[in-house]
Amino acid sequence: MFDNLSDRLNESLKKIRGQGRLTEANIEETMREVRMALLEADVALPVVRDFIGHVKTRGLGQEVQTSLTPGQALIKIVRDELVALMGEANQGLDLSVTPPAVILMAGLQGAGKTTTVAKLGRWLRERQKKKVGVVSVDVYRPAAILQLQTLAAEQELEFIASEPDQRPVDIATAALDLARKKHLDVLIIDTAGRLAIDEKMMGEIRALHAAVDPVETLFVVDSMTGQDAANTAKAFNDALPLTGVVLTKTDGDSRGGAALSVRHVTGKPIKFMGVGEKADALELFHPDRVASRILGMGDMLSLIEEVERKVDQKKAEKLAKKIKKGKSFDLADFKDQIVQMNNMGGVKSMLEKLPGMGNVPQAARGQVDDKMLGRLVAIIDSMTPRERQFPATLNGSRKRRIAQGSGTHIQDINRLLKQHKQMQKMMKKFNKGNMMNLVRGIKGNMPGRMPF
Ligand code: GDP
Repeated sequence: MFDNLSDRLNESLKKIRGQGRLTEANIEETMREVRMALLEADVALPVVRDFIGHVKTRGLGQEVQTSLTPGQALIKIVRDELVALMGEANQGLDLSVTPPAVILMAGLQGAGKTTTVAKLGRWLRERQKKKVGVVSVDVYRPAAILQLQTLAAEQELEFIASEPDQRPVDIATAALDLARKKHLDVLIIDTAGRLAIDEKMMGEIRALHAAVDPVETLFVVDSMTGQDAANTAKAFNDALPLTGVVLTKTDGDSRGGAALSVRHVTGKPIKFMGVGEKADALELFHPDRVASRILGMGDMLSLIEEVERKVDQKKAEKLAKKIKKGKSFDLADFKDQIVQMNNMGGVKSMLEKLPGMGNVPQAARGQVDDKMLGRLVAIIDSMTPRERQFPATLNGSRKRRIAQGSGTHIQDINRLLKQHKQMQKMMKKFNKGNMMNLVRGIKGNMPGRMPF
């Protein structure tokens, strides 16, 4: 995502990373390069100016923290300011009104409005179990109405028909009536866009807004458009009380300018981002995660979500219960955990997503050889169920037998037993006994929210 910006920023920050001292001169020099990187990414000029100003002020006034080198401290400031620029935390939709909650979509033609209507409808249906209706008031392009009809059918959304000879406001109010009658939770209204901002379009969408009083008015903007995105965003924001922004096409080779500018220019949160053409390619926009990704610092929370999606929840819950009951985490459980780690692409790949490998305890780092995983499984498979349950019974002769059975050495078995003990301790500590909590535990053990 935003590869160009990411590469350029990291290049600019590389030199300062190892610097022992932050001086006015080296901050100046670094920020000159960061400024170039932002301009090349098509970030709006006032945004760049403010951003650089903030980072410089904070950099110069920085009390040097003991755990960071001054160079790292500056990078942390850059990250913090990127997060602040994009809006701190994710803000979801606020649909807490008497249903149907109306969502009005605005934006230029081609920004991705219709696609986003379908994605959002699917999102609300799947994740929030909402009954969603969609309607198009784009009477100028019958093909647009048809496009929405097709998408609505694919995503199992209630499609409310409209005709090109109707007035947009009439379509919208009739759709709202129908949505009430059908007890829909949400009505999403797709509007007509133009190729450029024009007064007629703005007048029409203002009238629509007045007629249906939407709880969310979302401005859809193509992230490939950079500077232009900032201008259009401003125009729409002046014309309408926007409640949020959807940034589309972040999967393309967009330079990232819109992501950094739109919030600053409109003061409205980016709520979602489109990450592909398919209907499930919509993600909540998390400024902190996006900032970390831009700066190549890993993405802890996405890792946790991946674990949540891929880990066998039933097994994890069973194990959690067992450990809560005070039963010990035995070698069979250990094997389950190893197999699950393997399913996630191995320990190495998981740890790569962790920012700050340096802060991970040596004990955990010592286990990152992926080839080891297969060997560990072979060793555990060569044990009897009783041995797995009571590792303390493993004496010299049993260990020799297991080593032979698994094609390993006694030292390997001793190492495994040691690792198992360490894991057992961690499991006890994090109490819930599954990998997700382990990952969270590791994260919690890292000082602050250091992105290094
Ligand atoms: P509208 O004119 O604003 O309604 O725009 P459309 O919804 O018709 O989208 C215009 C084009 O952008 C279509 O080809 C979509 O498939 C594409 N598109 C929309 N959102 C995304 C996205 O997040 N990623 C990618 N790669 N393409 C998108």
